[in-house]
Amino acid sequence: MGRGHRYPVVVAGPLTDSSSPTAEILAIGSELLTPFRVDTNSLFLTSRLNDHGLELLGKAVVGDRPQALVDALRQAVGRADVVVTTGGLGPTDDDLTRDALAAVAGVPFREEAAVLAAIADRFARRKMPMPAINRRQALVPEGATVLDNPNGTAPGLWLAVGRSVIVALPGPPRELKPMWDTHVAPRLLARFGQQHLRRRTLKIAGRGESHVDEIAAPIYGPLRAASPAIDTSILASPGQVELHLSAKGHDGDALDRALEQAVAALADAIGLPVFSVDGRELEEVVGDLLRARGGTVAVAESCTGGLVLGRLTNVSGSSAWVTGGVVAYDNAVKVRDLGVPESLLAAHGAVSEPVASAMAVGVRTRLQTSVGVGITGIAGPTGGSEAKPVGTVVIAVDGPDGRHVVRTVRFPGDRVMVRQMSVQTALDLLRRACAEGCT
Ligand code: ATP
Ligand code: MG
Repeated sequence: MGRGHRYPVVVAGPLTDSSSPTAEILAIGSELLTPFRVDTNSLFLTSRLNDHGLELLGKAVVGDRPQALVDALRQAVGRADVVVTTGGLGPTDDDLTRDALAAVAGVPFREEAAVLAAIADRFARRKMPMPAINRRQALVPEGATVLDNPNGTAPGLWLAVGRSVIVALPGPPRELKPMWDTHVAPRLLARFGQQHLRRRTLKIAGRGESHVDEIAAPIYGPLRAASPAIDTSILASPGQVELHLSAKGHDGDALDRALEQAVAALADAIGLPVFSVDGRELEEVVGDLLRARGGTVAVAESCTGGLVLGRLTNVSGSSAWVTGGVVAYDNAVKVRDLGVPESLLAAHGAVSEPVASAMAVGVRTRLQTSVGVGITGIAGPTGGSEAKPVGTVVIAVDGPDGRHVVRTVRFPGDRVMVRQMSVQTALDLLRRACAEGCT
């Protein structure tokens, strides 16, 4: 399932171990509060902070308003060990991060001659006069360490405030990222030692979120109480449930071992619906199963209009095991290109088990693959009836030696949701068939 189509339904927050160091991120800039710009820096920063075992307590986007900035900084410094800000370090009037930092730390500014020289030099090299306002960028709150920015004029700042440290970095990602690696990572290592935060994910199809939670909940408790403690959260999207596990500490190998055991215990309890414990998506798992058995697949799609084939061919190298497919939206195409008997359509209707089965058999036979998939259904919002309401979808998988499965399912939700659930369910039926040797 594409990353952009995730709808997290429930996130059970991880339990915070009070002894582990914490971080907050403030993305600064009024442009980030418009519909046109999105804060992506915090995703990069979260991943890097996690590398140091720092767990995020929260993150916020703050506009270029002095009081809002000071309030947000003060609050963050009051509860996190590390506060990382991005943006607002430029030379213009709306770049207020420097002032807010000095205000929160309660320190005056000093002009840093070396910084001023570096900025002047940058302009000189480009044969441009240095605007007077750039002089402000050489103002450094007393006690702050200046972090050199080789890709821009705004240097970063590292400033201890009470028991916390504020790391102020410029907004442009191409400036911030190298500065993290050069200046921030070594300083965090020195301050917190070698910490790790490791994550594992179990991906599950064909089971609802509450069902998964019911099975997994008795296992969570001991995991959270164990040493190293393992935090768990559950995330649901249409047709897929994910269990996210994480553990932090100084010994990376011990974390890996503990997570490995936890993953095994959960996978064992949940069983066949677990399709991946190593990050692979459903279509990649299907591909690996087919490749291992030298099998190939073809898909006949009605209500999903090619989405299943789209998912399968998302996988790089899929030409080795995807042969092709037929989008048979119109019944005439089901008859002409898949050989579905007209009598079957007349007797049972297009959305029926006999027709889905005939589509799977037809596409498998005509494209000469080891497995064929047929999908027909009513995605809505129109076209439903009392016997076959909107959301009714029939999926068939046809394999060699007469192996055949067909399922009628009734999905909730709108057209987008029904189609997404149909794709996911078809891929999962295909996966199960392949796992059982249907190639
Ligand atoms: P400078 O003005 O010297 O470039 P700055 O620290 O003042 O540095 P901003 O003016 O706040 O940075 O941001 C500059 C640009 O960086 C923004 O227009 C935007 O494109 C990008 N940017 C800022 N913040 C973020 C963010 N949180 N995520 C992604 N991009 C960002
Ligand atoms: Mg700005």
